[in-house]
Amino acid sequence: MDFDFTREQQAFRHEVRAWLAARVPADLKGRGFAASRADRAHVDRLRGWQRELHGARYVGIDWPREYDGRGASIMEQIILYEEMSRAEAPQPVNRGGLSMLGPTLMKHGTAVQRTRHLSKILTAEEIWCQGFSEPNAGSDLANLQTRAVLDGDFYVINGQKVWTSMAHVADWGFFLVRTDPTAPKHKGISFLLVDMKTPGITIRPLRQITGEAEFNEVFLENVRVPAANIVGGVNEGWGVAITTLAYERDVLTMIRHISLRTALERLVALAKRTKRNGHTAADDPVLRQKIASLTIAERCLALNGYRSLTRILKGQPPGPEGSTSKLFWSQVDQDLAEVATEVIGPYSQLAAPSSWAPDEGQWEFYCLLARGSGIRAGTSEILHNILSERVLGLPKD
Ligand SMILES: Cc1cc2nc3c(=O)[nH]c(=O)nc-3n(C[C@H](O)[C@H](O)[C@H](O)COP(=O)(O)OP(=O)(O)OC[C@H]3O[C@@H](n4cnc5c(N)ncnc54)[C@H](O)[C@@H]3O)c2cc1C
Repeated sequence: MDFDFTREQQAFRHEVRAWLAARVPADLKGRGFAASRADRAHVDRLRGWQRELHGARYVGIDWPREYDGRGASIMEQIILYEEMSRAEAPQPVNRGGLSMLGPTLMKHGTAVQRTRHLSKILTAEEIWCQGFSEPNAGSDLANLQTRAVLDGDFYVINGQKVWTSMAHVADWGFFLVRTDPTAPKHKGISFLLVDMKTPGITIRPLRQITGEAEFNEVFLENVRVPAANIVGGVNEGWGVAITTLAYERDVLTMIRHISLRTALERLVALAKRTKRNGHTAADDPVLRQKIASLTIAERCLALNGYRSLTRILKGQPPGPEGSTSKLFWSQVDQDLAEVATEVIGPYSQLAAPSSWAPDEGQWEFYCLLARGSGIRAGTSEILHNILSERVLGLPKD
């Protein structure tokens, strides 16, 4: 097994490193590891940054050239994200569009849908949100009740979605709706592209434990959506959603992992400069062990990520193994947040804009945000079930 990067990949790394060194805006540098996407003005700023990245052809670099990508391998994408982490640059804001919807449209979308949407995902001209979860359909997603009824060339949608990240700033959403209530629950679902400005959509922000409102309730009342916006066929939405979720758990987890590495590097720097009783936190033998253990866990995540990568490089779709990475990542993320709290001590409770909050309160924000890591993109309990049944082949009951 060869873990080294090729000469071309190394050259690409140098090119990206130089570009980022010159271009990461000072006001965004270092603010990405515990970033919120709740504030509209900040999201607009991040749209601008994604546009700049796109101008240098650093967005969707693994997308085929016919869709305005670079046609580079996913290895280059990983190198890019590693370098962005190193440069403390924020990631592209249109994450759901780039890592979930884009690949889904390439696999299941029509030519018209691809032409209409893919390039605007790359430029962040249109930001996407994911309308899957409902009040009674989270882990049991196939239980979703939002109805879509055909009326001429339109579907009329009624129902409610919840936890919809960035719905308040999104231009479009990819929604799961029930198009055949009489079919078994996995079989009557369709995957629909919805313009978030369509009349009948009401978006109510939900305040999170961080104090910010990045996700929302979305109410749909007689929302008329062109029937041509169905992706992958009527009542075929479950299969399409599985593709999207696999990308969310696999490729997106790899990207999240790189953010975790940034946080770990900052934690090490924090431990070195945080003084207590005449010593730094990095001199404390217990904290040293905990940080070393996090570093080992981070390395394991990287190697496991490379395993998933190999699968994708061989042209295979992401498999249930992605669940291992997501599960492990969420545990390491929460452990890291806890160790940061120990390093900082009582000051860890201080939030921005207090001038006493270390790193401008980003650690306090990170610790609270990490509570959701074991919930979003599949809860840890559900991932344990998937691993037991689909990877290890244990009996369901
Ligand atoms: C930060 C964040 C962002 C999110 N963004 C989005 C988004 O953009 N779009 C979107 O559609 N959704 C989003 N979600 C929702 C997320 O996908 C759901 O919260 C998740 O799927 C769990 O569903 P639920 O909240 O309804 O919990 P439930 O499914 O009601 O689960 C409650 C508890 O019961 C456990 N449980 C449930 N079923 C089982 C079982 N069979 N075996 C063992 N334990 C079980 C769960 O593990 C959990 O602990 C987001 C969530 C978070 C935290």
